[in-house]
Amino acid sequence: MGSRSQASWVGAGRWTGAAEPWMSSRVLCAPLPSVPFLFLLLLAAPGARAAGYETCPRVQPNMLNVHLVAHTHDDVGWLKTVDQYFYGVKNTIQHAGVQYILDSVISALLAEPTRRFIYVEIAFFSRWWNQQTNATQEIVRKLVRQGRLEFVNGGWVMNDEATTHYGAIVDQMTLGLRFLEDTFGTDGRPRVAWHIDPFGHSREQASLFAQMGFDGFFLGRIDYQDKQLREDSLEMEQVWRGSTSLEPPTADLFTGILPNMYSPPQNLCWDMLCRDNPVVEDPRSPEYNVKTLVTYFLKLATNQGQHYRTNHTVMTMGSDFQYENANLWFKNLDKLIRQVNAQQANGSRVHVLYSSPACYLWELHKANLTWSVKKDDFFPYADGPHMFWTGFFTSRPALKRYERLSYNFLQVCNQLEALAGREATLGPYGWGDSALLNEAMAVLQHHDAVSGTAKQHVVNDYARQLAEGWGPCEVLLSNALAWLSGSKLAFSFCRELNMSICPPSQKSASFHVVIYNPLGRKVDQMVRLPVSKGVFLVKDPNGKTVLNDVVVVPSSDPQEHSPELLFSASVPALGFSIYSVTRMNQTMPQAPPPNSAPHKSQYRVLAIENEYIRATFDPDTGFLTEIRNKDKKLLLPVSQAFFWYIASVGDDKSQQPSGAYIFRPDGQKPFPVSRWAQIRLVKTALVQEVHQKFSAWCSQVVRLYQGQRHLELEWTVGPIPVGDAWGKEVISRFDTPMKTNEYFYTDSNGREILRRRRNYRPTWALKQTEPVAGNYYPVNTRIYIKDGRMQLTVLTDRSQGGSSLTDGSLELMVHRKLLKDDYRGVGEPLLEKGSGEVVRGRHLVLLDRVDSAAAEHRLLAEREVLAPQVVLAPADGARYRPRATPLKQFSGLRRELPPSVHLLTLARWGPDMLLLRLEHQFTAWEDSSRNLSAPVTVDLRDLFSTFAITHLQETTLAANQPRASASRLQWTPSTGPTPHPVPSTLDPSSITLQPMEIRTFLASVQWKDSKTRSRFRFSS
Ligand SMILES: [Zn+2]
Repeated sequence: MGSRSQASWVGAGRWTGAAEPWMSSRVLCAPLPSVPFLFLLLLAAPGARAAGYETCPRVQPNMLNVHLVAHTHDDVGWLKTVDQYFYGVKNTIQHAGVQYILDSVISALLAEPTRRFIYVEIAFFSRWWNQQTNATQEIVRKLVRQGRLEFVNGGWVMNDEATTHYGAIVDQMTLGLRFLEDTFGTDGRPRVAWHIDPFGHSREQASLFAQMGFDGFFLGRIDYQDKQLREDSLEMEQVWRGSTSLEPPTADLFTGILPNMYSPPQNLCWDMLCRDNPVVEDPRSPEYNVKTLVTYFLKLATNQGQHYRTNHTVMTMGSDFQYENANLWFKNLDKLIRQVNAQQANGSRVHVLYSSPACYLWELHKANLTWSVKKDDFFPYADGPHMFWTGFFTSRPALKRYERLSYNFLQVCNQLEALAGREATLGPYGWGDSALLNEAMAVLQHHDAVSGTAKQHVVNDYARQLAEGWGPCEVLLSNALAWLSGSKLAFSFCRELNMSICPPSQKSASFHVVIYNPLGRKVDQMVRLPVSKGVFLVKDPNGKTVLNDVVVVPSSDPQEHSPELLFSASVPALGFSIYSVTRMNQTMPQAPPPNSAPHKSQYRVLAIENEYIRATFDPDTGFLTEIRNKDKKLLLPVSQAFFWYIASVGDDKSQQPSGAYIFRPDGQKPFPVSRWAQIRLVKTALVQEVHQKFSAWCSQVVRLYQGQRHLELEWTVGPIPVGDAWGKEVISRFDTPMKTNEYFYTDSNGREILRRRRNYRPTWALKQTEPVAGNYYPVNTRIYIKDGRMQLTVLTDRSQGGSSLTDGSLELMVHRKLLKDDYRGVGEPLLEKGSGEVVRGRHLVLLDRVDSAAAEHRLLAEREVLAPQVVLAPADGARYRPRATPLKQFSGLRRELPPSVHLLTLARWGPDMLLLRLEHQFTAWEDSSRNLSAPVTVDLRDLFSTFAITHLQETTLAANQPRASASRLQWTPSTGPTPHPVPSTLDPSSITLQPMEIRTFLASVQWKDSKTRSRFRFSS
């Protein structure tokens, strides 16, 4: 947090909680009692009662109750790496050591039974826990049982909400909540979600939290205009309706906005990182200050209470990495409580107490009020005029892609671990494991990780964690593929395919291509691999020859014309196909490589085309001019080009520059990267491409594969030149004549869609200060515009910021390079060097009728997020089982899932247990062309080919409580009562999914041995 928290602190350029070197001497005095002594104290402590709200402190019904929430906010990486924060390394960057915080807090809690503390980030807590003795663990268990140490949120991290995909959010919450459930049982189960620092809030996050069983949710950061109006209209607390499809109250979540973000009130910060004076009670002391403090506090509490509807209000007593010497905080809070409450004898009506978010929520619930309902989201977030946090939607695009690609790979790893069972873990290639990648992915969801708002050295460490997670998953894949195929091939993974580097395919004369499909339906996938020059013979799993092409990719360097082999592969549901590739001895006359010094085209009509789409280009400029959907008989003039905004460095209106968090262009009009493109045309039987080169640092391939219903735009941007001293924010923009009436649409964490309107907020009259940045929204997977007839959808391969700034136009920010820090604490300009400098990505463009657009973009987005995994093997391998013929094709499903059903999770949960999530991936009424929005029923019996489900239990979304026994607090929304549905009995033969519903199961399974399994093998 710190200086990124408030506009008024901007000028300071540092966080207020900075450590002072002279403070270290304070730590030495007043040592705490030893743990064994405290243990005795604990046993004598009163109030060891049942878990949950029953352990909440007593309040005063006829007074204003001020709930003090003692907390620390521990970023899982930001200015320091995760390990540096945990151990307290590199305190010169920032004084922070999480291990000491937890040590210190536990001692302080034991010293006084009324004290309470909350803890949030399980990535840190689990690490600390594993380093404790049994005796300390036992003490902590008791504190948790008594409600004195309470877990809130309970995810591995406090995830970002703008740049995260819902699948990864669910995974990271599952990991954290599972640790709590395994370690503390129901005592440790958080009731309250707590996102006090993320930079804006998505509606999908609320929906997911509701489905995880949370009773309420507290936020820190919302737009400054929104907050002001809410305070005035007493709407700081509401019911948030997280879904337009799910029947209320399934996705309803009680949501409260904290009064002071997550900081303590002014003058009341008693951490060693703060400078406020301690409470001095001795009236004889010249430093005596109780009277002033109490008067100040009473006024503060009363003022704050006026913005909330009940006689309860909350104060967050703590901040970033505070409580390293918890005694400072608690000693002063003890005194504050004593002194303020003593005033009740003089007629004061303020009661102050140690509390927690759950206990505060419990009192709100008991108030039995009717709450207004929020249906939109909290994006974009601005903490002052001209200060829109919309830059981080795009910041560090290479990391954002790596994260998304790792999500894909983790799901493949999870699935194969589930399908192959034990054999995936320990096999011919060694020890395979998904846990490391699962943890790395959870860390990446932190609100300074995938968001791109950490320091460069921390970002490098995030990338290291992902890379280290990939290793054991590659072993796991090899073990599983060998077991399932019956052949011990020398599997090889090409992590640099996006740069056309893959030694096994480039160097071997013959090799196998194993393609694994993580979807519940067959896919036809165009495989594209860098090869050496030559003619190739490609055979499918049945030995049939498959049409292939070798495309020579144009390059400015004639030495770098790298040929790429192309063929279409068909892969069964949740399974693999093995194709074989052989380079033939004969040489065929090859087309000479394209001219290395291209100029404006000589083409008269320039177009690429397949059976569904035709894309036309202007022969003079080389730009896209028109897209035709031949199938649906739609024609739309579309021009697409790259532009850049000058990044503001501050001006007369505001000193605010553009930075890692904030997007602030200098002027509304972006500059074109170029007014024309050098182009080359590539046409083969399988693909047609237009290669556009706009500048030395910006190029694009517009591509149509045979059979593909979308146009693919593969862009390469960087290194962005900043030698002219202008930071640049690069966008790809599509301009059409569509009449869109200020509206456009963006997805929420890759799931439901929200309608956006320019210069407009659904719940308040916006005073717009930034006509560009103030209209940017997070795009996780897609953005679209539509008129009454047509819809133009652009799907992304990572999170980006996007907008529609004029009717018929749509833009996505693809990359940014900035020369200034934006004063929100990171303290570095966004100047990526090395791997983040040049970025390649894809936009998939769909032109469709409005009524059938969802059917296309939902299924395409699913294929994009869970793309097939390509694994190579240079030569034949030994048989796994001597007498069994190896398989070249396999499906883990005995029947395909319907198109509306997405297999969200299939993962190992225990020795004989799997975690399974099925999702309806359409919203209600979204698709009228193929009826894909209708409820759908799946039969789970014998669905999987490698294991039998022997027992099935349905759970809440994060799998930490059985659905049948889960109950949430019921709130009364102003829209009318919402009766809680009683879960129906579970019938594995008939699992029905309503639109947008996710159902989560823990399945006891028995893996079939290879003999039994062979009966279920895929036959084509
Ligand atoms: Zn934070």
